[in-house]
Amino acid sequence: SSGYSLLRDPHHNKGLAFTEAERDSHYLRGLLPPAVVTQQLQENKLMNSIRKYQVPLQKYMAMMELQERNERLFYKLLIDNVEELLPVVYTPTVGEACQKYGSIFRRPQGLYISLKEKGKVLDVLKNWPERSIQVIVVTDGERILGLGDLGCQGMGIPVGKLSLYTALGGVRPSACLPVTIDVGTNNEELLKNEFYIGLRQRRATGQEYADLLHEFMTAVKQNYGEKVLIQFEDFANHNAFTLLAKYGTTHLVFNDDIQGTASVVLSGVVAALKLIGGSLADHTFLFLGAGEAGTGIAELIALEMSKQTKAPVEETRKKVWLVDSKGLIVSSRKESLQHFKKPWAHEHEPVKDLLGAVKAIKPTVLIGSSGVGRTFTKEIIETLSSFNEKPLVMALSNPTSQSECTAEEAYTWSQGRAIFASGSPFDPFEYNGKVFVPGQANNAYIFPGFGLGLVISGAIRVHDDMLLAASEALAKQVSEENYDKGLIYPPFSNIRKISANIAASVAAKAYELGVATRLPRPANLVKYAESCMYSPIYRSYR
Ligand code: NAP
Ligand code: MN
Repeated sequence: SSGYSLLRDPHHNKGLAFTEAERDSHYLRGLLPPAVVTQQLQENKLMNSIRKYQVPLQKYMAMMELQERNERLFYKLLIDNVEELLPVVYTPTVGEACQKYGSIFRRPQGLYISLKEKGKVLDVLKNWPERSIQVIVVTDGERILGLGDLGCQGMGIPVGKLSLYTALGGVRPSACLPVTIDVGTNNEELLKNEFYIGLRQRRATGQEYADLLHEFMTAVKQNYGEKVLIQFEDFANHNAFTLLAKYGTTHLVFNDDIQGTASVVLSGVVAALKLIGGSLADHTFLFLGAGEAGTGIAELIALEMSKQTKAPVEETRKKVWLVDSKGLIVSSRKESLQHFKKPWAHEHEPVKDLLGAVKAIKPTVLIGSSGVGRTFTKEIIETLSSFNEKPLVMALSNPTSQSECTAEEAYTWSQGRAIFASGSPFDPFEYNGKVFVPGQANNAYIFPGFGLGLVISGAIRVHDDMLLAASEALAKQVSEENYDKGLIYPPFSNIRKISANIAASVAAKAYELGVATRLPRPANLVKYAESCMYSPIYRSYR
């Protein structure tokens, strides 16, 4: 093709890094100024300009513009500066980007499937330029991060999440497909906004909703086969559990809000046992919040306990208690509970609030997953610390303003005894001359490696045992040096190596379970995973 179109193709464009020989052989002479530079120099220049922006959204837009212009350079920046740029291309900045999508929207990214496309979804999939898709991230925009219903503007989420599948997990960008299913929005402000890009109607529900999703799921399998991973993202919990259960037996599906969260939190708990002592079954867990995150984590903890003790999961669930907006979940409430809460309705008298529950249950591990900030009060942490030498406190709600307590509060109120991790990052904190480093239970530790493991083994179903394998693989990456600082997650700077290890463990489990189709099984799965990972280094065009 012509040099001009080469410069406009983000998959191939290298800008000033095209060599003299490439400029000659690809009709680029005169279309570029004379300087020839290295990819590293391009990276330095861009990082300098991104660092000059004070407003996070400007950094986000600069990164999106780069992704549209020069894909390999975009990924090189993201991989080399992962700790700095993750909050730009993903949470929290991506949330703001979604809220303002209507006004910052330039070129469409991803595939939009709305009620207008009903009956034609397969044709819509065929409009996508890439043929061999390995990972789809799909949202219906109803519960974007902690921001609620953003309708069609939720597209920022699948786009951002897939760029992490590539940067952190090494899935090829051309094999990733972001999808937004638009069934309307109940966000009144968006419905009134003249710049809104989605369907201007209230959300379809019931059969109409189920039919469009079913058409989508069927079309995906028909078009891409059985090995494509469909990751559900940011669906409201009244649909999320149902979709996961419905398609879990026929498709390769994964819900990061439920399963990815569960795996990353279980990993933190398993790692924390080195610091707090005992085995998993020796501990009692109390959750504030019984939604996708809370019940997902609870179930995976009970499952791991059951594997370790050989006790049935119905028994091990009794070590796990949850509080929702109406108080402790107990048997007398069973009739009125949503189905995903029913397994947690244990025998106990009603308790109306968290403090009461802490006193009654005496947990050793307290996990916040309600989305409501400032709920782990001084009195609650002090009570917890009164009967635990080393309480484990995980304040998972995002963003930072919604965290159940801060790192400083957890360390101070427990007199330096708590092991603390959170959903949003907190700075290290010095207490009585010792520096404590809080861990971040970031889903980005698990899902990229998890997805890579499914892809490289050609898995056709997700099994809970794979989530357990991923948790274990992540926990193994925590070093003695990390533990000394109170950390229960490894540093993020090693994420590509961590992802390769998780991928290998997940793939090994897929082979063991007989759901892997890539045969024969590679002998060294870690090496194989590493060899499959996408590299952002420019290729030469000869
Ligand atoms: P969700 O499905 O909407 O569940 C929220 C739960 O919290 C519901 O059970 C709700 O009770 C309960 N709740 C709400 N207000 C409450 C209150 N004042 N007191 C007690 N319980 C209350 O949400 P989700 O997807 O599970 O997410 C929850 C939070 O976890 C979010 O802030 C999210 O950012 C965070 N999260 C963190 C990570 C991570 O750290 N890696 C991962 C995923 C999610 P009802 O059921 O009674 O309404
Ligand atoms: Mn999510």
